[in-house]
Amino acid sequence: MSSERLVVVGSLNMDLSVTVPRLPRPGETVSGADVVRGAGGKGANQAVAAARLGAEVRMIGLLGDDALGGELRERLAREGVDAQGVAQLPGVASGLALIVVQQDGENTITLSPGANHHLDVPALDTLTGGTLARPADTLLLQLEVPLPTVVAAARAARAAGALTVLNAAPLPAPDHPELGPLLSSVDVLVVNETEAAGLLTPGPADDRAAWAAHADALRDLGPATVVITLGADGAVAAGPQGVCTEHGFTVPAVDTVGAGDAFCAQLALSLGSGTPLPDAVRRSCAAGALATTRPGAQSSLPSTAEVDALLAGAPAPYESATNEVHHA
Ligand code: ADP
Repeated sequence: MSSERLVVVGSLNMDLSVTVPRLPRPGETVSGADVVRGAGGKGANQAVAAARLGAEVRMIGLLGDDALGGELRERLAREGVDAQGVAQLPGVASGLALIVVQQDGENTITLSPGANHHLDVPALDTLTGGTLARPADTLLLQLEVPLPTVVAAARAARAAGALTVLNAAPLPAPDHPELGPLLSSVDVLVVNETEAAGLLTPGPADDRAAWAAHADALRDLGPATVVITLGADGAVAAGPQGVCTEHGFTVPAVDTVGAGDAFCAQLALSLGSGTPLPDAVRRSCAAGALATTRPGAQSSLPSTAEVDALLAGAPAPYESATNEVHHA
C-alpha cells in the first residue's frame, strides 16, 4: 500500500429501500417486500470504494446521534475507513434516503439530508482539528454537503499541497455564486454527461470526440484536468498533456448505482499516485464497470484484485483499437 492517503469530505446516508408491485399514488398505501438497508451518500460511497481499492482513507462528515448514525459509523469502520473525523451531532437526524422501487426498476427517492447539511465551515475545522490534508494526500469532494464547506475544504487542501478532486454531483444551479470559486479551487473535475451539459454553454455533445472537446473547454473554468463519464460508453478526459477517450468495458450490467462513485474513487487514487491520465481513466472505467455487475451502492463496489483482473483480461490501453490517446 502506498503512503498517500485519500481524504473524503462529504455525505453519509442510510438508504432504506422497499420493493413494491407498483408505486403508490398520493394518498395510497401499497404493501411491499421487507425493507433493505444500505449505507449510502456519495461521500461515504466514495470513501468505501477507495478503501476497497486499497487506499488509506480518512472520512470527514456528520451523522445524527440516532441509531442509523451509529450503524453507519460502524459500517465505515468495518470497511477500514478512518472515521475519527465523522461525528454524531446531538439532537439531529442522520441523512436518510427513502427509496421505493417498483418491480420493473422504476423508483421514487425521498432524501432527508439531515446532519449532512450541518457540515458548515466551523464544523469542518472542528472535525479536522485544523489539519485537513498533508502534501501527499488527495482530497475527494462531492456536492451533497454545503457548498461553502466544499470550497473551504478544496482551498485548505490545495494550500497544504494536496491534489484536489471534485465530483460535481449533484450539480447546483449553474449561476450558484459558489460554483465559480469552487471550480477554480480544484485540480481535477469529474462529471457525468448531464452534469457536463449543465456546465457548458455550447450544450451537450453527441459523440465521444465532441465530449472530449467539451472536457477540454471545461478546463477554462479552472480545473487542470476534466473527466466526463459516459455510462456504458466509457469516459473522456482532458488535461495539460491533451485529451484521451476510453471506450470502457463490456460487462453484464445489472444495476448502475455505485458506478460513478467507484469511478471517482479510482480516479482520485490513480491520479494521486501519479498515474498518467489515460491509464487512470482506463482503470477508473474498469472500477465503474465492475460496480454495475452487482446491485446496490456500497455493496457493488469492487476490490483492487477485481479491477486488476478485468484490466488483465482486456486489451492493453495503448494497443487497443478502441482506446485513443491524442497528445496536444
Ligand atoms: P454516473 O453514475 O455518475 O452517472 P456513469 O453512468 O457515467 O456515472 O458511470 C461511471 C462509469 O462507470 C462510466 O464512465 C463507465 O466507465 C462505468 N459504467 C457505467 N455504466 C456502465 C455499463 N453499463 N457498462 C460498463 N461500464 C459502465
